[in-house]
Amino acid sequence: MSTDSLALDQSVQDKSLQVELETEIERRRNFAIISHPDAGKTTLTEKLLLYGGAIHEAGAVKARRAQRKATSDWMEMEQQRGISITSTVLQFAYKDCHINLLDTPGHQDFSEDTYRTLAAADNAVMLVDAAKGLEPQTRKLFEVCKLRSLPIFTFINKLDRPGREPLELLDEIEQELGLQTYAVNWPIGMGDRFRGVFDRREQKIHLFERSAHGSREATVTTVDLGDPRIEDLLEQELYYQLKEDLEVIEGVGPELDLAQVHRGKMTPVFFGSAMTNFGVEPFLNAFLDYALKPGPHHSTVGEVEPTYPEFSGFVFKLQANMDPRHRDRIAFVRVCSGKFEKDMTVNHARSGKTVRLSRPQKLFAQERESIEAAYPGDVIGLNNPGAFAIGDTIYLGQKLEYEGIPCFSPELFAYLKNPNPSKFKQFHKGVSELREEGAVQIMFSADEAKRDPILAAVGQLQFEVVQFRLQNEYNVETQIELLPYSVARWVTGGWDALQKVGRLFNTVTVKDSWGRPVLLFRNEWNCQQVEGEHPELKLSTIAPVV
Ligand code: GDP
Repeated sequence: MSTDSLALDQSVQDKSLQVELETEIERRRNFAIISHPDAGKTTLTEKLLLYGGAIHEAGAVKARRAQRKATSDWMEMEQQRGISITSTVLQFAYKDCHINLLDTPGHQDFSEDTYRTLAAADNAVMLVDAAKGLEPQTRKLFEVCKLRSLPIFTFINKLDRPGREPLELLDEIEQELGLQTYAVNWPIGMGDRFRGVFDRREQKIHLFERSAHGSREATVTTVDLGDPRIEDLLEQELYYQLKEDLEVIEGVGPELDLAQVHRGKMTPVFFGSAMTNFGVEPFLNAFLDYALKPGPHHSTVGEVEPTYPEFSGFVFKLQANMDPRHRDRIAFVRVCSGKFEKDMTVNHARSGKTVRLSRPQKLFAQERESIEAAYPGDVIGLNNPGAFAIGDTIYLGQKLEYEGIPCFSPELFAYLKNPNPSKFKQFHKGVSELREEGAVQIMFSADEAKRDPILAAVGQLQFEVVQFRLQNEYNVETQIELLPYSVARWVTGGWDALQKVGRLFNTVTVKDSWGRPVLLFRNEWNCQQVEGEHPELKLSTIAPVV
């Protein structure tokens, strides 16, 4: 605990609240899964819920989704495309723990929300397909985790299929991501011959039996490494292979260092097969032991400990029109300190006003349910009467503000055109409201003659959402003109720094919504070239927080 911590300053007024907070924080684990589409995130999520007893038969999440699709009253666009634009929060209990799984949207729906969700997570589970190794979307999401030094737990999936050598996969993670690896369990066989895992924590072999399509928990036989029964249970060749592998990893690999894991420098690695449930339970058990519990957050008054008795939290995501009949908006708040209670009246740091938080909701998949209380590490959905913006802090007690959520480097750019001059007002109102809500970033050409706003997004879907919502909510039809850039860099030091370097080639300069200079490049290569030619120019992939 740091010396400027509020928890130290604050005299503990309410002992029972303090005990309650400590107990609840102790049992909370919060994480997001980062992966490339098809690595098995939906499958793993289902299996985690299965072990958590939140669902009784795996398949329920998908089935529910399909059923909801038919009767859905969310955005028409979701129905048309059959996708889910929303990321959801799943809460479930396992053993004594209360787990919050922050779901990040998949690939077609990749957007800034995917990044922002990581701002509310305490841990990340990096899911990797054993046959494919690291893939582009995983790398991008890893970069965001790295910025926040999030602890990363790696689950290498699909061991029931032929895949790459386990050692080769570890090597790839070390080389490409610069993360030290520590294999917590080790696979025995692979593909058709995947028999189980060796758990290095317990020094035991877990041999699995397949259940019908993995819809129930896997049946496991556990034996010691030297147990004579092993001869009957496991092919000799696999047993020798395991002993050989263990010698290698124990000989060359580092010890597990939890402090390094918590700093995001070392990743515990697990092997398994989400589909057949193999390795899911040992993973969950170890994860709960090793994961970071909700910790302090940086604020304008120093670090705020989760045990600080006054409630505080920040908005990391806004979601509009889940139900167009009610035009409701939900602000998702990560609870950072104190206890949240229904109908609380809190302070809104940015506006200085007070807001009553009625109808708070907890979310299980897409189903919403009212809640009475929430604790640090939890996420609550608040009906947002337009008061909230991404990054806003709400608090009780001494005024404080959490660090905002940065703008992440967009990769898609397009002019947004309003062909109908009579709609000028609605167009600008809509664009500015959607920007405030964080649906998309807006930039402008540095050339004053070009007045059309530039939409800057990390996913194609954001363009579609903007156009759709302008049409539906502001009654403005728009046109999109794609721009040939894919890389954006903020200029550290602003316009002065930019002026000093003089003329730059193979790039255009635009302004972000705060008038700060951003350079756009066609590709990474052009960007590196400019950086190479002008070492004095400092460029950043992330905008400074406003
Ligand atoms: P997501 O796109 O990451 O959510 O991936 P899904 O969970 O939808 O899985 C993508 C495909 O991989 C589906 O066909 C799954 O059945 C399959 N899959 C997921 N996990 C495994 C696994 O452990 N083994 C095998 N063989 N297939 C898997």
